[in-house]
Amino acid sequence: MCAYGMISVMTSLPAASADSLCSCSTRASADPRFVTWCPACEGNLGPAPDAQRGRSARRQDARRAADRAAVERLYAEISGEATSRPWRDGAWFTAMTIAGAVHLTTAVLATGSVWLLVNGTFLIRFLGVVGFATAVLLRPRLGRFRRDEWSLNRTEAPHLYGIANRVAAELGVRPVDLIRVAPEFNASYGKTGLRRRSVLTIGLALWEVLTPQERVALLGHEFGHARNGDSRRGLWLHSASEALASWYEFTRPSRTFTTESDPFTMIGNATATLLLIVPHKLTGLILLLLHRYTLRTGQRAEYLADDLAARVASSAATRSMLEALVLDKSVEHLFQRQTVIRRQTRSSRINSRRGDDFDLWQELREYITSIPETERLRRLRVSALHMASVDTTHPPTHLRIRLADERPPQEAAITLRETEIAAVETELTAVRARAAHAVLTSNY
Ligand SMILES: [Zn+2]
Ligand SMILES: [Zn+2]
Repeated sequence: MCAYGMISVMTSLPAASADSLCSCSTRASADPRFVTWCPACEGNLGPAPDAQRGRSARRQDARRAADRAAVERLYAEISGEATSRPWRDGAWFTAMTIAGAVHLTTAVLATGSVWLLVNGTFLIRFLGVVGFATAVLLRPRLGRFRRDEWSLNRTEAPHLYGIANRVAAELGVRPVDLIRVAPEFNASYGKTGLRRRSVLTIGLALWEVLTPQERVALLGHEFGHARNGDSRRGLWLHSASEALASWYEFTRPSRTFTTESDPFTMIGNATATLLLIVPHKLTGLILLLLHRYTLRTGQRAEYLADDLAARVASSAATRSMLEALVLDKSVEHLFQRQTVIRRQTRSSRINSRRGDDFDLWQELREYITSIPETERLRRLRVSALHMASVDTTHPPTHLRIRLADERPPQEAAITLRETEIAAVETELTAVRARAAHAVLTSNY
């Protein structure tokens, strides 16, 4: 049976559905709002990954194919184990060594430059200044623990913090230091600053389309990052790759090259471009190597975070939470449509349902609930076809769903009470309104 033969029905089929006959003689269900496709032969499923021409495109294709094979090999390995566990291999050791070399370069550059500044002649001191400035640019980036407009403190959202603390306690990790609730369709967990304080960011666009138990699964996955042994998020590797990323951006030749009529400026720009191109290419290459060498440990850590989510919220809730991730384009589509309607309403000054009482999140939930199962299935198959994942650090979503299916089913360790769910809804009222305003006034 195909991997998606057991997709759970999260919504009822809409009345608007109409059946048509595919060329393979299967009845293909169609909703006029979505693409008509055939689940049996995958006719009209959606665009296949681009086949590119040219030597560099072929090289890129070959690289992608190698990545895909590595990701699938890793999946086969992990699905054969009873549970995921943190992993250290030769590639991990190489990545840690590269990060060490980056930190060492910065340290040597900084101390060498200070020595030149103290002991050198005027010209040598100038070199010291340049060296020291470079070391400052390359310095380890620890991030800054900062509250912003999306931050909620414990008195503003005691129940949300309470649920987060329960999930953290269940996984044996420290309670979160700060929760942010932002408009996006995602969630994240990270540690920042010298004190490595933890910040959990909940994207409302994702949170709103999840059921309460799926939200617990989402928190389970995010807190899973605090104990899944993902070295990419550790101080050593993360600060090295952040430093390299800023160095990569700083040395991007197009930053300095402008078309000027003045020949001296042009010569100056061309020289700067030539001087920048080598460090730019070199940092790009080191970043690529770091990505390659941490791919396996990183993806293992993500599968482990999903296993931990299942332990906290149940396998079923984790699976359906993961399924919701492929609806990102639907959310984007609704935001775009509502932004345009809102703009038109403002310009024609019509005071209608699109006025101040308009609830974007309610509209989003209704729209997502109305998406028929065939369209959800199509999104899942397209996601698998493209090996799509929520970002470059996560394994393809369809493989995460498949692993959740293959693991022995787990019951929820944490379930939410109705009163708790309602209390969190109330706590989020103000931030929901702010986030809706941000979505509707942005350039979607
Ligand atoms: Zn067909
Ligand atoms: Zn993750």
